[in-house]
Amino acid sequence: MNISHHVSLKNYNTFGIDVTAKDFIAVTNTNELLKALKQNTKNLFILGGGSNMLLTKNIEDALVIHVNIKGKEVIKENDDFAWITVNAGENWHDFILWSLDKGYGGLENMSLIPGNVGTAPIQNIGAYGKELKDNFVECNAIEIATGESKTFSKAACEFEYRNSVFKNELKGQYIITSVTFKLTKKNHELNTAYGAIENELQNQNITSPTLKEISNAVIAIRQSKLPDPKVLGNSGSFFKNPVISQTDFEQFSIKFPEAPNYRVSDSEVKIPAGWLIEQAGFKGKQFGDAGVHKNQALVLVNYGNASGKEIWDLAMKIKTAVNHQFGIEINPEVNVY
Ligand SMILES: Cc1cc2nc3c(=O)[nH]c(=O)nc-3n(C[C@H](O)[C@H](O)[C@H](O)COP(=O)(O)OP(=O)(O)OC[C@H]3O[C@@H](n4cnc5c(N)ncnc54)[C@H](O)[C@@H]3O)c2cc1C
Repeated sequence: MNISHHVSLKNYNTFGIDVTAKDFIAVTNTNELLKALKQNTKNLFILGGGSNMLLTKNIEDALVIHVNIKGKEVIKENDDFAWITVNAGENWHDFILWSLDKGYGGLENMSLIPGNVGTAPIQNIGAYGKELKDNFVECNAIEIATGESKTFSKAACEFEYRNSVFKNELKGQYIITSVTFKLTKKNHELNTAYGAIENELQNQNITSPTLKEISNAVIAIRQSKLPDPKVLGNSGSFFKNPVISQTDFEQFSIKFPEAPNYRVSDSEVKIPAGWLIEQAGFKGKQFGDAGVHKNQALVLVNYGNASGKEIWDLAMKIKTAVNHQFGIEINPEVNVY
């Protein structure tokens, strides 16, 4: 087993934060992962594509395991569907491009979401009207405490909006090693209802889009809206959209009738965190190298050499200001260490 020491994680997280890992190992198959688990009783820090984390300090007290298990296989198919098992270390977007080249449908609306396949079930990633769970069959994972392998069905994953059992009861207990998807080979269920996709296709005079054209439309929209982490360090949406009770919403909407809002249930309403942050005056603001993106108030960015602590301090400044102005608490969506 090759454990490296004092490894910079700057290229392993999309914020581009330069912290070091005292002990670091990249595992390329499940045997290596099991060996790493057996020989290390100390804390573990599991790293995928690093696109949903803010690192605020050097990692001294845990072994960083970079899950870099590659490979994918069509395990079953019939005239209508293909079942594909993809290992955790495969890049999500590269997998989608591969599936589109094969003519498999289902994931096109989720093109260009950063990160790895093995992490995708954790927050049930989604975009433009589709979620991972729509094509998910099962995933394999290794229990950290015992090294035992377990298969999780869709029901066992308890998927919800940006949520799953891996973020709740089983948080930090399993390492996902592969995910199986069911994709369409024909009669694809195209979902272009999301406004921006329709507009983009119209702009390109496309009336009966192919899977690839939908994927390209999503890529174009995302590139126009979100900063590319390779150019400007960021971790996508930094905060979750807060959900408030109907009673609180009634008070809130008297004071702020112009606020956009989305009903979650009879008793709860979601308010876009980006709107709250923009109203609090943070959109486009820069404090040293930490800042809020000029087009997307929900995205915090690293303009160069910001430390994780500087980004975190800015996040807390925003949280306090939003709470002060609106009486609403906003909380990070990214994992903070
Ligand atoms: C520009 C940008 C845009 C984004 N847009 C979207 C979007 O549209 N929709 C969306 O849903 N998300 C979006 N995200 C968030 C991000 O892409 C997802 O959360 C993604 O699934 C993170 O994958 P990762 O491999 O980079 O995870 P990492 O950041 O490496 O890890 C995230 C968490 O999962 C744990 N983890 C990592 N791998 C494993 C594993 N194999 N088993 C168990 N635990 C593991 C880590 O310890 C950590 O707690 C965006 C991010 C960025 C930077």
